[in-house]
Amino acid sequence: MSGRRDELAANLATVRERIAGACADAGRPDDDVRLVVVTKFFPASDVRLLADLGVTDVGENRHQEAEAKAAECADLDLAWHFIGGLQSNKAAAVAAYADVVESVDRAKLVRPLAAGAHTRSHAIDVLLQVSLDPPGRDGRAGADPGDLPALAAAVEEAGLLRLRGLMAVAPLGEEPAAAFDRLAAIQRDFLTERPDATWLSAGMSGDLEHAVRAGATHVRVGSAVLGSRPQFK
Ligand SMILES: *Cc1c(COP(=O)(O)O)cnc(C)c1O
Repeated sequence: MSGRRDELAANLATVRERIAGACADAGRPDDDVRLVVVTKFFPASDVRLLADLGVTDVGENRHQEAEAKAAECADLDLAWHFIGGLQSNKAAAVAAYADVVESVDRAKLVRPLAAGAHTRSHAIDVLLQVSLDPPGRDGRAGADPGDLPALAAAVEEAGLLRLRGLMAVAPLGEEPAAAFDRLAAIQRDFLTERPDATWLSAGMSGDLEHAVRAGATHVRVGSAVLGSRPQFK
């Protein structure tokens, strides 16, 4: 186990250096960017080690796995980010343990999320996931940029959901720098209407530098910290 702890510590140090370097390049202070470690496929014991190594935020993308791990780690002072595709019939259950739901991409999710937040009587943070894919692409996750104002209004009206900003994933097969430039433009528009919703979650193990340059406030890093994910669980 101490071998695993050393491995995670070394990987975390490397990722933190990458973030600090990207911030320096962009002329941003390095506490501008929060590291969300994506622990999907990895056991609660790793989450425990990460918390002990100073990680404050973890991300999960599958409801059942996330729910079980959050329960196992309930004694730890961690913010749980839900970053995966969300089914409306699971949304209330996700809001019962997630502190941040990053993948809100349609209005149908809003009511169940608010209902789930209500069961624990405290507000949860919400990011709107925006698609950077060309319209019509298969398996596309995220709202069209044009739908963000209506979606934001729905979140604001729901109660117990705090609209914090935007989340995006760079499309496969495109230069992340170009995709994140588009995201930065989308965010500029969004901020003119909602100047307080300043979070921007973008960037993963392979492209975090580009995301930081484009203004990311949160990076979601999995494999660069935990190693490559098993194919089957
Ligand atoms: C898995 C995942 C990540 C982390 O990806 P890595 O390449 O392992 O860093 C980030 N964001 C989302 C939405 C994910 O599903």
